[in-house]
Amino acid sequence: MENKVALVTGASRGIGRACAIKLGAEGYKVVVNYNSNDEAANEVVSLIKEAGGEATAIKADVSNPAEAKMLIRETVNTYGQIDVLVNNAGIVKDEFVLMMSEETINKCLDLNIKGYLYCTQQAVLKMFSKKQGVIINVSSVSSKLAVPGQSVYSSTKGAVNAMTATMAKELAPYGIRVNAVAPGFIATDMVDQLPEDKKEEYLSTIPLKRFGTAEEVAEMVAMLAGPACTYMTGQVIVLDGGLSL
Ligand code: NAP
Repeated sequence: MENKVALVTGASRGIGRACAIKLGAEGYKVVVNYNSNDEAANEVVSLIKEAGGEATAIKADVSNPAEAKMLIRETVNTYGQIDVLVNNAGIVKDEFVLMMSEETINKCLDLNIKGYLYCTQQAVLKMFSKKQGVIINVSSVSSKLAVPGQSVYSSTKGAVNAMTATMAKELAPYGIRVNAVAPGFIATDMVDQLPEDKKEEYLSTIPLKRFGTAEEVAEMVAMLAGPACTYMTGQVIVLDGGLSL
């Protein structure tokens, strides 16, 4: 993957962090995007460089269209191109349907849907000229399961699945593949913040009896980006320890 450039949004922590490290190990030059946590983002860059890779951190709130545009522009200014975009930055906010605030609705929609759309638009503009590119959207198994409290979150992830299919069809003529991964419960800060009794309840519903790791998701993301999947587009790959069966 030498000379290829991958941008991972929300790569300072969790799944994005693992994706950045994995893609860096595979030889991609990696842009580690983050929102606020400079220290964590710089640590990811250091880890990639210590392993012999190339990486840089770029701070940008991808729910803001101007910042998403700046992020892709800076990626191309730094490394000359963008070959792989991993739309990963997302938030979850569980609230019973009647308790959902307008703020929660807007925050989830702005980042989990609009952020993906803004980054994809800007990245595709750069990919067109080369007639090749890969977009990988991090969805969630919540797009397919009814998880109480997740009306907004699951709506956003359902939208991610829909945009994956639609964009895959629209962009195929330009050599750009679009796929998604839909993780179940993955041991990141997002799951750590759940109350202990909820974690136990969720664990009991997973046939493999454990939460997944961010590294397991990163393995799939790297596979979707690479030569094993050059004939795959528009798919949503579920990684959930059997939760959705
Ligand atoms: P996480 O540990 O909470 O990390 C979130 C990452 O997103 C951080 O790097 C954070 O940056 C970044 N971020 C937050 N807001 C941002 C913004 N406005 N612009 C740019 N970056 C932003 O999350 P995670 O668990 O790894 O989840 C990553 C993705 O996987 C999300 O799309 C999530 O919906 C999906 N997912 C997660 C699970 C799970 O169980 N964990 C399951 C299914 C799907 P800072 O460090 O700067 O705050």
